[in-house]
Amino acid sequence: MKKVAIVSCGSYMDSGYGCPGEWRCLKAAAMGDGQFYEPSQVIAFVKCECPGRSIAPNVEMAIKLSEIKPDLIYLSSCLVNAKPGCPNKNDENLARIVEEKTGIKVISGTHDYH
Ligand code: SF4
Repeated sequence: MKKVAIVSCGSYMDSGYGCPGEWRCLKAAAMGDGQFYEPSQVIAFVKCECPGRSIAPNVEMAIKLSEIKPDLIYLSSCLVNAKPGCPNKNDENLARIVEEKTGIKVISGTHDYH
């Protein structure tokens, strides 16, 4: 079973009823749905907070504190597919920044649930 970390959009998590109510990223990881392809163990769930400057060091710290290196890092569907999009363009840059910082492959998107 793959070990994964998920990065989500804190702006959406804090204000969208769907995310805190359903935790679709966690369901998709558990079921192996969406971009996960197989049931996966979530070892860290990190919230981006505007304007996103702390996200790369926070992901690194979450991995360090969990003492488990994930096989993959996922950017949540609400982060990469947001409409209107992230005002700080983090959906475009975050994958590269987090990948460079951690050396771990970053996948854009988690689930296809509506
Ligand atoms: S910077 Fe963008 S991705 Fe991060 S919390 Fe704000 S809106 Fe969401």
